[in-house]
Amino acid sequence: MSGLVIIGASYAGVQAGISAREKGYQAPIRIVADETHLPYQRPPLSKGFLSGSVAHSNLILRGDDYFKARGIELVLGHRAVSLDRDAGRVELQGGDPFAFDQLLIATGSRARQLTVPGHARDGIVYLRTLDDAVNLKPRLEAANEIVIIGGGFIGLEVAATAAKAGKKVVLIEAASRLLERAVSPLISQFLLNIHLAHGVDIRFNQSVVGIEGTSAVHDVICSDAARVRGDLVVAGIGGIANDELASAAGIGCANGVDVDEFGRTGVPNIFAAGDCSNHHSIFAGRRVRLESVQNATDQGNAAGAAIAGKPEPYVSVPRFWSDQYDVKLQIVGLSAPNDTAVIRGAIDDGRFSVFYYRGPKLMAVDSINRPGDQMIARRLIAASLSPTPEQAADGSFDLKKMEA
Ligand code: FAD
Repeated sequence: MSGLVIIGASYAGVQAGISAREKGYQAPIRIVADETHLPYQRPPLSKGFLSGSVAHSNLILRGDDYFKARGIELVLGHRAVSLDRDAGRVELQGGDPFAFDQLLIATGSRARQLTVPGHARDGIVYLRTLDDAVNLKPRLEAANEIVIIGGGFIGLEVAATAAKAGKKVVLIEAASRLLERAVSPLISQFLLNIHLAHGVDIRFNQSVVGIEGTSAVHDVICSDAARVRGDLVVAGIGGIANDELASAAGIGCANGVDVDEFGRTGVPNIFAAGDCSNHHSIFAGRRVRLESVQNATDQGNAAGAAIAGKPEPYVSVPRFWSDQYDVKLQIVGLSAPNDTAVIRGAIDDGRFSVFYYRGPKLMAVDSINRPGDQMIARRLIAASLSPTPEQAADGSFDLKKMEA
């Protein structure tokens, strides 16, 4: 019996292996990973690890013994290069092929690369993997002037870490506000004010059109012809699903591998989960590809259960968080640009939530330093319970009453 082969040893792949075993999967389980590290946590790479408050050893998700105790074999340092779905075989770079009865594709996503002239120069870095972070950390410490391309989560977290360390930081953003695709203008403005207060110079509506200079000093050229000088350039311009293995094998993909609520692709014994996949979200009413720890873990869990023959649909409310300075932003649910935003709490106190409504329905809640709102909002959204916008805005209204 060939058993289960999982490609990718991060949140989705690891959780799927554990869940399959816990739900009674008896055959061999092998997790193949191109990275050589034990599975590790990615979020601290742009936060505590970069600032030095989280040590390398504290990043490990699960140790060797954990996998051994569950009869899960970790095969590190081997990249899966092709997939023969009819023969049930995965070809590995630098290793013998693996046969499978079931396969889970949990290959995650990768950092989108700049393509402008000068993009390949040394000193232009990305942050996706532990190796990237190990490379970036000393460069960040040594740099005086840092140019960050992209005002998404990774760009902002790196900007916060660098500004707190006393570096001169310029952040270039193509849109007219921060985190445009993820949060409302209210949250964008709040975060902008925090970054400005820490001295970050933010340039909106600017695309990068080229990078010039010497190997030590870079001039990042913006669409308005401004030249922004930095001795380090960090690009955080989004992620791309690693779905090429699946698409080359004829498995349906459209910005990620298409899966159902059990992580099933169109091929009966092949599953996918996490950043590399897209699914229909009952919380968005459309197909989405999410990049979050919660999505990868919960979807991996559903895929593992289905592989073990005990299917449980993936219906968790989407969640995400970001830490910048002393601000904890938490997001539950999925909002859309035209949703109506209602504020609970006081923006000036730095502790507030934004409730997003589509008609009368509560879709999502973003919280700044208000974890209590997140806990209750998660339960309300999961149960399709919506306080009225007036109740949400009234800080004295006990939202827990909605559950009675
Ligand atoms: P990944 O974590 O991307 O892992 C996929 C693995 O598969 C990788 O190790 C990859 O190298 C490997 N792989 C790919 N192709 C192959 C192949 N052909 N053969 C073998 N192995 C392969 N999320 C949050 O919710 N909150 C946060 O605060 C947050 N912060 C983040 C900060 C950073 C710097 C980054 C990079 C991400 C952050 N995220 C955060 C997102 C979160 O880390 C991802 O959503 C999550 O890691 C996705 O897990 P995954 O298992 O789907 O894939």
